[in-house]
Amino acid sequence: MPTNPETDYDPTMGEKFIFVTGGVMSGLGKGITAASTGRLLANAGFDVTAVKIDPYLNVDAGTMNPYQHGEVYVLKDGGEVDLDLGNYERFLGVDMTSDHNVTTGKAYQNVIEKERAGDYLGKTVQIIPHITDEIKRRIREAAEGHDVCIVEVGGTVGDIESMPFLEALRQFATEQDDDDFLLTHVTLVPYSKNGEQKTKPTQHSVKELRSIGLQPDVLVGRCDDELEPATKEKIALFCDVPTDAVFSNPDVEDIYHVPLVVEEEGLDEYVMHRLGLAERAIPHAERDNEWRELVTQETDGEVDIALVGKYALEDAYISIHEALKHAGLEKNVDVNVLWVDSDEMDDAHEERLKEADGIVVPGGFGSRGTQGKIAAVRYARENGVPYLGLCLGFQMAVVEYARNVLGLKGANSAEADADTPHPVIDILPEQYEIEDMGGTMRLGAHETDIEAGTLAHEVYGATQCTERHRHRYEVNPEYFDDFEGSDLVFSGRAGNRMEILELEDHPYFFGTQFHPEFRSRPGRASPPFVGLLDAVLSETEVEREVEV
Ligand code: GLN
Repeated sequence: MPTNPETDYDPTMGEKFIFVTGGVMSGLGKGITAASTGRLLANAGFDVTAVKIDPYLNVDAGTMNPYQHGEVYVLKDGGEVDLDLGNYERFLGVDMTSDHNVTTGKAYQNVIEKERAGDYLGKTVQIIPHITDEIKRRIREAAEGHDVCIVEVGGTVGDIESMPFLEALRQFATEQDDDDFLLTHVTLVPYSKNGEQKTKPTQHSVKELRSIGLQPDVLVGRCDDELEPATKEKIALFCDVPTDAVFSNPDVEDIYHVPLVVEEEGLDEYVMHRLGLAERAIPHAERDNEWRELVTQETDGEVDIALVGKYALEDAYISIHEALKHAGLEKNVDVNVLWVDSDEMDDAHEERLKEADGIVVPGGFGSRGTQGKIAAVRYARENGVPYLGLCLGFQMAVVEYARNVLGLKGANSAEADADTPHPVIDILPEQYEIEDMGGTMRLGAHETDIEAGTLAHEVYGATQCTERHRHRYEVNPEYFDDFEGSDLVFSGRAGNRMEILELEDHPYFFGTQFHPEFRSRPGRASPPFVGLLDAVLSETEVEREVEV
């Protein structure tokens, strides 16, 4: 068969689709199961991409509260998307675009716009076929040119919201050849009081799937432990799948171990076999082992990093947690994150700040928690504690310096205090007229020029970097002169925009107007995070020497 040497993609093969649905309850980690399958297929030499379906009416995740939905992940094209896309980018090592996140809002918006434009003239516009066609079109477009596309359907089978997507999926299945389509269903296998693995919830959720015309090809049971052979047999019997199509996804200490666990049970081989990919796969012994080596390496020590935020929820800062982990993998240390609540800087939280070897102040919106963040910045600056400020953390470093070093009394960000006498951080001029909240910030990948000979130059090892943005406020040009000649240097700029700051005479005080955490990957850690750990490690070594 003719293949395209440029991409290794064989146009005559067509794309293969793996749909992933979830049953029983949400939060089973079906995204991680799906991403892990993708990682293994990539290791076997396939070009894998993913689509995340979110059955909510929001057009994108940009306006959603991180406390309900976790972090808003930002893509290079400026798409503000569900955090699962971050997992796909990290597991697959690829960059995706907004088209890879399909929401109910996006599908309806497009269909309604077409209806208003008169494209359906004369017809009644309906969920079936117009919305379902739109969903299928979006999935096919996102998959185009890739060998395999993993499509994760958010929510749980049985939810009203997911219905149009599941109907689209049903149609999709009938339109594809058998070996181009596979449905994986992830369910929960709980233990009974007497320690028995129970299959009834799985049976019920497969029944639910069947009632809408869908038969799963593969079943993955989330359980504390591996599924026992008898459990697998029972599931196979009642759900009409072969026993070797039932896999376990037991608890693991680190999500990066999930690909290794599912590989051991042969999920990847089964999937490749079913999709007719087995013959094209790189032989097992020759596959890329980098992931396994990276995530199973022995670490040598542990560092404590304080994360000063306002949402006491790991998912709200997931990319920062992951970026710290990637830097830890590179430096061979475990990174322990100490949670410090910026809204309640009480004694306990202050104590934790003092225990930390380094401090990170993440991004955020609004005024709540900004005082706590400024206090954390001051503590890091005055005590020589390695500091990394991301977006709002960058802005708060500017405010703290303006107040406490430059003597600009009452300096603030106009976002936190509209009446501040010194708006050292102010709304971007292009934002003056904007009234809509969705998709209107400075978003996505933009280039920054880095001044040679600075810490930023050392950190990035280059005089340019491209990182993702998501903000409305920036350093106010009217105050540039006030910082001139001070210890606080803006070492990265994009035209008149200040992008990176650093302090002279400090072990590591680094702030970025952008969000480097979104480009961090296992094996390709983000430079500002590696810089933070480098500083922490050399500081602790110094301490050790003093102690000895
Ligand atoms: N709220 C600030 C702004 O809009 C910071 C944004 C952020 O941290 N992502 O500029």
